[in-house]
Amino acid sequence: MENILVLTNADETGSALTRASLEAVTAGIDLAARLGAPLSIGVIARDASAANSLAATGAKLFVVSGVGLAQPRYATDAAACEALCRAANASIVLIPAGARFSRVAAGVAHRLGGVIDTHITALSGEEKIEATRWFYRQRVEAVIMRTTRPWVVVLDAGTHAAYEGAAGTASVEQVAVELPATRTTVTGIHAPKQDEQTIRPDARMLFVAGAGWTKKQPDGQVHTAEAAERIRGFLRATGASLGSSKSLVDQGGEGQSVLPFLTHMNQIGQTGATPRHAKGLSTCCHGEEPHVVGWRFIGDRRAISLDPNCGWTRGKADVVYVADAFAVIAKLNEMLGAKG
Ligand SMILES: Cc1cc2nc3c(=O)[nH]c(=O)nc-3n(C[C@H](O)[C@H](O)[C@H](O)COP(=O)(O)OP(=O)(O)OC[C@H]3O[C@@H](n4cnc5c(N)ncnc54)[C@H](O)[C@@H]3O)c2cc1C
Repeated sequence: MENILVLTNADETGSALTRASLEAVTAGIDLAARLGAPLSIGVIARDASAANSLAATGAKLFVVSGVGLAQPRYATDAAACEALCRAANASIVLIPAGARFSRVAAGVAHRLGGVIDTHITALSGEEKIEATRWFYRQRVEAVIMRTTRPWVVVLDAGTHAAYEGAAGTASVEQVAVELPATRTTVTGIHAPKQDEQTIRPDARMLFVAGAGWTKKQPDGQVHTAEAAERIRGFLRATGASLGSSKSLVDQGGEGQSVLPFLTHMNQIGQTGATPRHAKGLSTCCHGEEPHVVGWRFIGDRRAISLDPNCGWTRGKADVVYVADAFAVIAKLNEMLGAKG
């Protein structure tokens, strides 16, 4: 019989669980029900009340809490995860991918003498556990089964619905852990403002800018400043995540007119990212295969292009608007009450 443990952590408030954690909880509940196995959930938080949102899961709740865990840090997080896995006597450990857990997951598996698989997108199987992940830039899907235990399974964010059960007063077991001495003191966080931070993995929509935004328009001129203003206005109004084609981000290196807020981190595609969003809107992009392969996990795909014969219209998008993206985004911004 497997013992399933889901590891979760609190967000920056210290008392609520991250969305990725709640997704992993859903995966754990489904897996435990399918295998008829007991489910435990481990919580790492500054404040033990973070576990209250899990009161209705029916799972056994283990908590490691305290000020030493308010900040992510390899030594303290790894010690906390190890203690939770041992307390739950876990054979299967589900961990949500994210900066905090991804850093320690392999180390925790090693400390437990177990094995680890990362980028898991789905768990299936009635008798045995089958974990799915993609290889070769999301072109090949593999199903992994293992007999070694504990098996640490790191789940990609955006692959499961977030757990939404009623909160209550959770009955938890506090796990004592002696945190190692630390050398770092966190004095504060310097982060870009939300509207400067353009890569937003939790956004419902992906907005992609293509090289067309910086090309000569029907009046024979380039309008890069105007393009930047419209795109920013749209992002501010919708909270969408900003992606780019390779051609557009490459232009910076060629000394051409570029959008100042785009970097290679925004690039979507074969040599870029493959994000997960419910919807995607591509603008001024041709829709070539090396770009579109990065859209594999986008639910509803739409594109705005002047070219009625572009790659998107040849079966790659659900809806293509053959139109001038400058005009369409200006109109949308007007309707959304955004500047730009
Ligand atoms: C090995 C390899 C890996 C690659 N990896 C990637 C990758 O990871 N990601 C990626 O993106 N590409 C990748 N590419 C490049 C890819 O093949 C394309 O060259 C690139 O995606 C084209 O970008 P684009 O569509 O923005 O630009 P273009 O091909 O220049 O298309 C611009 C489009 O904008 C339209 N347009 C212009 N003005 C307007 C307007 N006002 N309104 C609406 N539409 C307008 C034009 O009609 C045109 O269709 C890769 C290529 C190779 C060989």
